[in-house]
Amino acid sequence: MYDVIVVGARCAGAPTATLLARKGYRVLFVDKAVFPSDVVNGYYVQQIGGARLKRWGLLETLQASNCPPLSTLTFDFGAFALSGAPPSAEDVAEGYAPRRTVLDKILVDAAVNAGAELREECTLHDLVRDGEQVTGIRARTKEGATITEHARLVIGADGTHSLVARLVQAPTYNTKPALTCWYASHWSSVPTDGVEFYLRQRRALIACGTNDGLTVVLTGWPHEEFHAFRTDIEGNYMKTMALVPALNERIRSGKRAERFVGTAETANFFRKPYGPGWALVGDAGYHKDPATAQGISDSFRDAELLTEALDVGFSGRQSLEEALAEYERQRNAAVLPMYEFTCQLANLAEPSSPEILQLLAALRGNQTETNRFLGTWAGTVPVPEFFAPENIQRIMNGDQV
Ligand SMILES: Cc1cc2nc3c(=O)[nH]c(=O)nc-3n(C[C@H](O)[C@H](O)[C@H](O)COP(=O)(O)OP(=O)(O)OC[C@H]3O[C@@H](n4cnc5c(N)ncnc54)[C@H](O)[C@@H]3O)c2cc1C
Repeated sequence: MYDVIVVGARCAGAPTATLLARKGYRVLFVDKAVFPSDVVNGYYVQQIGGARLKRWGLLETLQASNCPPLSTLTFDFGAFALSGAPPSAEDVAEGYAPRRTVLDKILVDAAVNAGAELREECTLHDLVRDGEQVTGIRARTKEGATITEHARLVIGADGTHSLVARLVQAPTYNTKPALTCWYASHWSSVPTDGVEFYLRQRRALIACGTNDGLTVVLTGWPHEEFHAFRTDIEGNYMKTMALVPALNERIRSGKRAERFVGTAETANFFRKPYGPGWALVGDAGYHKDPATAQGISDSFRDAELLTEALDVGFSGRQSLEEALAEYERQRNAAVLPMYEFTCQLANLAEPSSPEILQLLAALRGNQTETNRFLGTWAGTVPVPEFFAPENIQRIMNGDQV
């Protein structure tokens, strides 16, 4: 009998297993994958995510993987670009874009080192219940055997299509339709300056350095054009590059190192993240468009919030249900403004309203406020704080804080 079984062992599941094991709980975490392994997703870790890795003692391991620190961010809207360094999170000034083969392995190893038991190639196919209460999992091993394990609580950290969420019929709310689709590839000999983000004609381009001296370049298109993109992946990818001649030139003088990978799995939703004997963390509980690259950092935050809630509940300081309700409340309070901001950006529309154009013009030449504007994307400056009417007025007037 475990205290907790975690299904899914990546950005949400592995840190949750680590933090619970470090508190002395008996934890089993399972994944149908083996590690290291890749996923078809982006992987930019914002400073806020880096700050949590540092707190957990894992940032140095990431830095030692030769993943370049990325301190500058450029937002290029076509008519003009804003470039700077978003404010730090705690004392972490840089973001990092580690390959998921690197990051997820670091996270999994940390959980195992903390005492959590890992089972790879172990696929959940059902939950065990006692009436309404979830009491364990049934899973298939790589040898094809079905195993049953019991726990006080089962956590679904099994991604957007969470089977745990489906089996417990977790209610979904705040849903918005998927807005974007993305194709990416990795390039050698393509220099970049920090993170470069371009918006042109309802297409996005994001480029930054990753492990092994490679540069990842993603193209984002409106979700409804996914099938059109797929009719000629390389052609459409390169056509999107051509919208930004300076980047296109660098790409054309570099060499594509890997195949193209793409996805349209960009749904926007919240799920109720707890019930009798179960909880959800990471993409399983809440998902938004990758346009603001927050998913990994969000998963790290929720791993901490959920661990705290379970510790409060298991130790009897509060009822487990109350503690988990507080987890949901804190998660939603932390993400709601960014959720709306992300969905707006995911329309991939170049800024056109007179107010926004005036604001962007006022930011030019004001490096402090430009950095804070970029911090809204990074998540180090709260969106409501920056876009508060009095703050916008102050920037327009050229007043200092
Ligand atoms: C195109 C794209 C680009 C993105 N770019 C970024 C970015 O730059 N920065 C950022 O922060 N976020 C980005 N994200 C979001 C980010 O990838 C996710 O938020 C993050 O991976 C969530 O981690 P997770 O652990 O919740 O889920 P996942 O990473 O999906 O992991 C879920 C795990 O559960 C396992 N699993 C699933 N079902 C079962 C089962 N039945 N039994 C056993 N195991 C199971 C899977 O094998 C998997 O290992 C991007 C997403 C997309 C789609």
